[in-house]
Amino acid sequence: MVSGTGGKDMDYRILVVEDEPDINNLLARILREEDYKVSQAFSGTEAKMATEREMPDLILLDLMLPGMSGEELLQDLRENRKSHIPVIVISAKGLLEDKVSLLKMGADDYITKPFEPEEVAARVQANLRRWGKAPETEKPLTYKNLKLSPSARKVTLRGKELALTGHEFDILYLLMKNPEKVYSRELLYEQVWHGGYYGENNTVNVHVSNIRKKIKEEDPGEEYIQTVYGIGFKLPQA
Ligand code: CA
Repeated sequence: MVSGTGGKDMDYRILVVEDEPDINNLLARILREEDYKVSQAFSGTEAKMATEREMPDLILLDLMLPGMSGEELLQDLRENRKSHIPVIVISAKGLLEDKVSLLKMGADDYITKPFEPEEVAARVQANLRRWGKAPETEKPLTYKNLKLSPSARKVTLRGKELALTGHEFDILYLLMKNPEKVYSRELLYEQVWHGGYYGENNTVNVHVSNIRKKIKEEDPGEEYIQTVYGIGFKLPQA
């Protein structure tokens, strides 16, 4: 066993994405023995939903998955959701021919099947340690009584966690990154839904009003998202 701290004091959460139950369970067991918190997903789609609920600190990712593939999930994380969390790809030896393109695509590391438990534990620990130096853009943001952690995709208001959907989080994240900047509905739509035609639909308004509702429940006396008439939304000067 790898000696050391494992995840004990840091409370790291790891998502294992692997469709073969035996391998998934084996990985989960190895990581739990190292005191990490582990969640398991058995398809790409399930993994995507899990990361939308709460972004883990690291993902072990199989590539050949039913539905959404590991490559697609990785691409979605890096390109669409701008997440920098460590992703370690796990794949059968012969299938990992193109390691360079895998790393280019945003994987941090890879492990080939069959693997030794010690190797898995060591790789996970090494990648978490590297991740410990979080890049600038992932620093927590605060605005009035709101605190937003980009890497954990978590928002708290007066210490209480807000249950935001992925899109609601992304909208608030944008607004909090640039308080006082006015975001038009079109721009929010473009940045959060990544292109597509905004047209006449009401999507952004609906999401903003949901965020407001959730904020108001915790902090009714304070104004957070302001409507700029005819243009869009901003956070007023704190
Ligand atoms: Ca597989």
